[in-house]
Amino acid sequence: MVREDNLKFQGARRRMIEKLRERLKGEGLLDERVMEAMMKVPRHYFFESAFDTGFAYENTAFNIGAGQTISHPHTVAVQSALLEVQKRHKVLEVGTGSGYQAAVLMELGAKLYSVERQKLLYDKTSKLLPAMGYRATLSYGDGYKGMPAYGPFDRCIVTAAAPYIPDALIDQLKPGGILVIPVGEGEVQDMLRIIKKDDGTTVTEEYGHFSFVPMLQKTAR
Ligand code: SAH
Repeated sequence: MVREDNLKFQGARRRMIEKLRERLKGEGLLDERVMEAMMKVPRHYFFESAFDTGFAYENTAFNIGAGQTISHPHTVAVQSALLEVQKRHKVLEVGTGSGYQAAVLMELGAKLYSVERQKLLYDKTSKLLPAMGYRATLSYGDGYKGMPAYGPFDRCIVTAAAPYIPDALIDQLKPGGILVIPVGEGEVQDMLRIIKKDDGTTVTEEYGHFSFVPMLQKTAR
């Protein structure tokens, strides 16, 4: 595992951000705060072997073990922008995975709570994030249930493909809260942003197609 952020990695990261900026501008989803946060997080730290780090700043998803992937940088940028995180917001993430999306949200000032159903990934990320100086509350469990003991949350982000919108995630949102979730059972999902109004009803917006690993029921070893 590479834990050194030298000029070569910083240069590659800057080029990745420049490309993302152009693309996101065209899509109307450019948030400079998100770009700054992504510039601060060494994405190559989340890759298993030194060999793989060459791919860390390509716009690609990548295997992180247990059959799971770290999301594309573009996907992370879009979800982070849609979430509109403000400093000290309580943010619930479903699908901790490598911890990369979590790190970006913490750079945006989030108090982060994240749940992961794969024990292997939970264990690995529970060590990596503190080693990088990030303090998050991680939980090994089923994200369909959210993290009721820690709610309600200002924001919720789901980073696996959900077949439907879990009620628990809406319940655990504060009034005025936002849920960003890819919904669909096939190869591609619709990125939805759901805003919970003060009276508890919701408004749903759609932001195009993305491709995530499926959100599965119950925990796995
Ligand atoms: N946010 C992650 C993306 C990981 S991919 C990152 O930045 O790396 C999606 C993750 O969701 C996988 O780690 C997968 O194990 C997890 N997942 C799938 N179904 C889940 C569920 N029901 N509850 C919690 N996590 C789940």
